[in-house]
Amino acid sequence: MTEQYDDHGTQSTVRVPILAVVGRPNVGKSTLVNRIIGRREAVVEDVPGVTRDRVSYDATWNGRAFTVVDTGGWDPDAQGMAERIRAQAEVAVTLADAVLFVVDATVGITDADEAVVKVLRKSGRPVVLAANKVDDQRAEAEAFGLWNLGLGEPYPVSALHGRGSGDLLDAVLAALPETPEESFEEIGGPRRVAIIGRPNVGKSSLLNKLAGEERAVVDDASGTTVDPVDELVELGGRTWRFIDTAGIRKRVKTASGHEYYASLRTTTAIERAEVALLVIDGSQSISEQDLRIIQTVRDSGRALVIAFNKWDLVDEERRYYLEREYERELVQVQWAPRINFTARTGWHIDRIVPALDAALAGWETRVSTGTLNAFLGRLVAEHPHPVRGGKQPRILFGTQAQSAPPTFILFTSGKLDAGYERYIERRLREEFGFVGTPIVLQVRPRE
Ligand code: GDP
Ligand code: GDP
Repeated sequence: MTEQYDDHGTQSTVRVPILAVVGRPNVGKSTLVNRIIGRREAVVEDVPGVTRDRVSYDATWNGRAFTVVDTGGWDPDAQGMAERIRAQAEVAVTLADAVLFVVDATVGITDADEAVVKVLRKSGRPVVLAANKVDDQRAEAEAFGLWNLGLGEPYPVSALHGRGSGDLLDAVLAALPETPEESFEEIGGPRRVAIIGRPNVGKSSLLNKLAGEERAVVDDASGTTVDPVDELVELGGRTWRFIDTAGIRKRVKTASGHEYYASLRTTTAIERAEVALLVIDGSQSISEQDLRIIQTVRDSGRALVIAFNKWDLVDEERRYYLEREYERELVQVQWAPRINFTARTGWHIDRIVPALDAALAGWETRVSTGTLNAFLGRLVAEHPHPVRGGKQPRILFGTQAQSAPPTFILFTSGKLDAGYERYIERRLREEFGFVGTPIVLQVRPRE
């Protein structure tokens, strides 16, 4: 199994839009960022490297939250001034939903500004043009010259005194996309669980125990198909939706293609679920098939709980071997809550709901951009990336683009070692928990 994760089209959740601030040095980007966030952000910690690399801030205007990224703090290794700010602009457009392009109105348009405009145009990102250092009425005329950039209306502003900043921020909000506020939770409705596992591990027995007398079969396919059939079950005072229980209850055992359909069914159930409850027969060895199912859960980015059934058959010796097997085979999913239970008697059945809750909470965890970057600064200070080919890749900026599953985008000055990516994931888990959920790391080296 590999530690690399790919992009995948999991449902987006609440995401705060990102505004990148670009422009030549000394045009007033930092001053403007401070104006936008409405205060001087306290320096997070006195760790060398943290302050300098701190480039992103959480901001709100008119009740809308967004993240501001000050590209001025970056030091791309590109040659020459024009090349440098062009490179910054390129990074900005990859990560941001909108760009705030700052020009010094008292200086007018320079070649470097023209180079930035080219990058911005090509990206198709919405751009707001700030004509800075317009400290008074008289200076306003200087802003008009900036129409020549072809980016539309220049907003005259004085980052230093605050003049015009309200209008500028209104324009920024208009340029930022409305955030798609759809998380599973907000869509509402019962949590969706897929009970999965090999045949005969006890899925059906578990479902029977969980559902007890409360069972309600829901055929929600608007009459067109019989399958899939979900069941709504009351557990811990809440309603849960168990996905495709027909596949569990009906012993579909046609000779040909049985395996294929079973795995297709498992995959579909996982896709429809938020959390997978993987049942493993504790009295048997962990099999290839178990590992394949685990891989499917990881690939589809769902939360995972691993439940070892038939604990009544597990003696001292078997327990010893199971522990070894677990460490050997399931290292990739050590983050998954683990329960031992006996479906036959109902022993430890009550531990399933808390485990599902923990996994769902980890799956939906959100880390703010500010907190994440402060953490990344500490992480790098403690353990910098090894030098490779005379260069040391640096993490420039990170953001959690999505939750469910937590998906992080790291902008770096070079490719990271696989081992270093694993280190980042491990430290993310130590710091923020992420129990029961895969973590997706997308590294975007700027080369
Ligand atoms: P950055 O390099 O683009 O981040 O620019 P800074 O924010 O560090 O500002 C560069 C210089 O311009 C500083 O001396 C600021 O005080 C000054 N400055 C920034 N905004 C304004 C403004 O609106 N009016 C005037 N007069 N000076 C400004
Ligand atoms: P499924 O194919 O995964 O749905 O598995 P079933 O629920 O049909 O169970 C398969 C077999 O395992 C049946 O004979 C069950 O009686 C047995 N079984 C299920 N749970 C337990 C358990 O906790 N302990 C023991 N000893 N047997 C169990």
